[in-house]
Amino acid sequence: MPELPEVETVRVQLEPLLAGRTVTEAGSHPSAKFLPARETVGYRFDVVGRRGKFLILSISDGDDVGEHGGKDSALELIVHLGMTGRLAVVDRPANEKNPYLRAWWSLDDGTTLEFSDVRRFGRIRVVEPGDYRSIPTLARAGPEPFDPDFDGRAFWELLRRSRRPIKTQLLSQRPVAGVGNIYADEALWLARINPKTRRLGRERASELLNAIRDVLELGLRNGGTTLRDYRQVDGSEGSNQNELNAYGRGSYPCRRCSATLKSDHLDGRTTTWCPQCQRS
Ligand SMILES: [Zn+2]
Repeated sequence: MPELPEVETVRVQLEPLLAGRTVTEAGSHPSAKFLPARETVGYRFDVVGRRGKFLILSISDGDDVGEHGGKDSALELIVHLGMTGRLAVVDRPANEKNPYLRAWWSLDDGTTLEFSDVRRFGRIRVVEPGDYRSIPTLARAGPEPFDPDFDGRAFWELLRRSRRPIKTQLLSQRPVAGVGNIYADEALWLARINPKTRRLGRERASELLNAIRDVLELGLRNGGTTLRDYRQVDGSEGSNQNELNAYGRGSYPCRRCSATLKSDHLDGRTTTWCPQCQRS
């Protein structure tokens, strides 16, 4: 599933292609998960933002006079890529023959934004700016990991609110936003923390936050991790899959101590760690 580095890579690439463009026509798969795409016709893309694993596209209807009573109407188009979602901007009308096309937006420069999603875990919503009541994971998301005001102490205080295993807490998005299965395994390996640990002291919480920032930064530099489905906006793969130390390496030797990495299920997600350097 795309995590912060993948979603941020897509955001950075989409922004110059979308900012200032107006939606002239839009269509979607009939599922309620994708239907809101159609509500954006006539709106202009302003800012392409991100919060955790969600893309948040600010759109407005810039008519000075007209149906909105002379006032600009601003909304947010929210896109969650789910497991297999991809966004691309193409130089042609939407390819409605693509069986995985879930939503599309024709833009006033003749290009088309396409959202395809093989497994249909993705989601599209149109909301009033900042009103995330219909998207609980977003409404409750913890701080952004690169927020300069977010520090080890604040992270430790958020972690103290729960006694669930540290990996489970990270996946919940509540102590910090944007970390999923891949980067959680990588950060815990880097910080030498066992994924099942339920209590972290302040020092180790700080180390974990630094490790989270390091693995996310590496993921960003590499354009994201492509295991199967994730692609950048131009269709190319990321390269961070070549840098992973823990995720997907169960039964391989630890790159730090050569012990055999272990894999187990934790809350239904495969978790990989080193039994020697991640003892507690
Ligand atoms: Zn090790």
